[in-house]
Amino acid sequence: MKTLRFWILSLICFTMLGIIVSTLTSSYFVTKKSLIENSLEQNRMYSMKLGQMTDEVFSYMQSNLEARKSDVVKNMVNHKAVSDILEQINVSGKHFNSLSVINDQGIAIATTPNIGIVGNKINSNAVKEALVNKEPFISQPYYAQTGRLLILISTPLFNGSEKYMGMLNGTIYLEEDNFIHHILAEHYSKDGSYVYVVDREGTLIYHPDKTRIGSSVESNLVVQKLIEQKSGALQIDNTLGNNFLAGYTYIEKSMWGVVSQTPYKSALKPLSGIMLTIFSFSLPLILIFIVIAFYISTKLASPLRKLAIYTLRPRGGQEEALEIPIWYFEAKQLTETIENYRKRQEETVDNMKTISVTDPLTGLKNRRYADILFDKLLDQKVKFSLIMIDIDHFKQVNDKFGHIVGDEVLKFISKILKEFCMEQEECIRIGGEEFIIILPEKDIQEAYILGERIRKTVEDSSSPIKEKITLSLGVSEYKCGETLTQSMQRIDLALYEAKSNGRNNTVFAKP
Ligand code: GH3
Ligand code: MG
Ligand code: MG
Repeated sequence: MKTLRFWILSLICFTMLGIIVSTLTSSYFVTKKSLIENSLEQNRMYSMKLGQMTDEVFSYMQSNLEARKSDVVKNMVNHKAVSDILEQINVSGKHFNSLSVINDQGIAIATTPNIGIVGNKINSNAVKEALVNKEPFISQPYYAQTGRLLILISTPLFNGSEKYMGMLNGTIYLEEDNFIHHILAEHYSKDGSYVYVVDREGTLIYHPDKTRIGSSVESNLVVQKLIEQKSGALQIDNTLGNNFLAGYTYIEKSMWGVVSQTPYKSALKPLSGIMLTIFSFSLPLILIFIVIAFYISTKLASPLRKLAIYTLRPRGGQEEALEIPIWYFEAKQLTETIENYRKRQEETVDNMKTISVTDPLTGLKNRRYADILFDKLLDQKVKFSLIMIDIDHFKQVNDKFGHIVGDEVLKFISKILKEFCMEQEECIRIGGEEFIIILPEKDIQEAYILGERIRKTVEDSSSPIKEKITLSLGVSEYKCGETLTQSMQRIDLALYEAKSNGRNNTVFAKP
């Protein structure tokens, strides 16, 4: 059967296991949540920063065009001069891949670098749209006559009398080295994070995988948010079905959107390491607590265990007192109860023992005691003498005064006998009105002297019947080698002789 300590220890271990499991589980979820939130926030901040940078560069590019448009208008007839101005813009900024001036008829009058379109009518929709609108314009990506995927940034040209003269353009070749690459390309990271840019219709303007530039990703949830001109952060599946934590920023000027995203798996990579760290930090504490729990369970169970072992001990004989470390109510109560019970039992046994060897009427020892004492004396080979006493004509006392008075006479005699018995000497009522006195270490002479003193005292004492009560006595000395029966027979004969001699006398037993 399992012990209390086992169950206390089991309970503590079970509780601790529960705490460890719940702590690790909650740590896991909290850490995971914070890693996801961190990554989302980082990507959001990052996309915002890149968006701002892009916006600033854009403003700068547009202001470059704006700053030189009056010079272009002044020199509109001189194509060589216009080419020089374009070259100056290009050198100062280097943000455009090419620059061009197209007149109000849509004919390219100057370009830098020379891309072989001067004198040609430009038929692209972007140019047509800009010529019609006569406003600053940023086009959608489109394939130009040169076969390049590009974005057109243009500013309208008006002369002094507000006549529309054409437009000054800068282009960005999306599939070639361009300023967006310069800003974003270095931000490709090893953990699989990357940045991409979409235009207002969800077409990729920049992507680390160049083959994807120009393709539409408008089905992407983040891209949809950017089309709605919103900025923020989201956990999403990208167009290829991979899970990402994305931050996205809408750029006002160009109406583009910048997305910075980290693969979900990469963001959660530190999780297992963090959990391992938490576990390895808590392990020594767990071990310490197990040792403490072991100690406490032993301490808690110890009083009850000692009590249980105590109750298992064979009973009888002198009981050892209970020594139990008591430091809590239940153990104290149980120990006291058991201890009280033990003491009471001991008292009862002692009482019973006394009762079993005591004569109830006279308070003297009885025959059972005499047997025990004889055994003991014979066992220890102690020499002893005996006095056997019988009240004379006691039957007549009963007959004359009744049994109750007879009992009073027995008590009266017993009282005198007790007064004569010293320590070690035992007075015993062995039958109705017969007594013996056992005298260890005394010889027959001493027994005789004591017997005579008793006899004379009784004779001279005033008895309950106010008449003289006398005793007949036999004395003997136990002889080494004889049996108890032989010894008793000898003293019986002596007593018989005392009766025959006329009573009220003491007779030596024959050897
Ligand atoms: P003897 O001098 O020869 O000893 O004569 P006796 O009458 O004393 O002897 P006997 O043996 O004939 O009588 C003993 C009487 O003691 C008989 C019995 O009624 C009485 N007796 C025995 N035990 C008790 C007792 O406990 N109380 C009373 N009152 N009488 C008892
Ligand atoms: Mg008798
Ligand atoms: Mg008698």
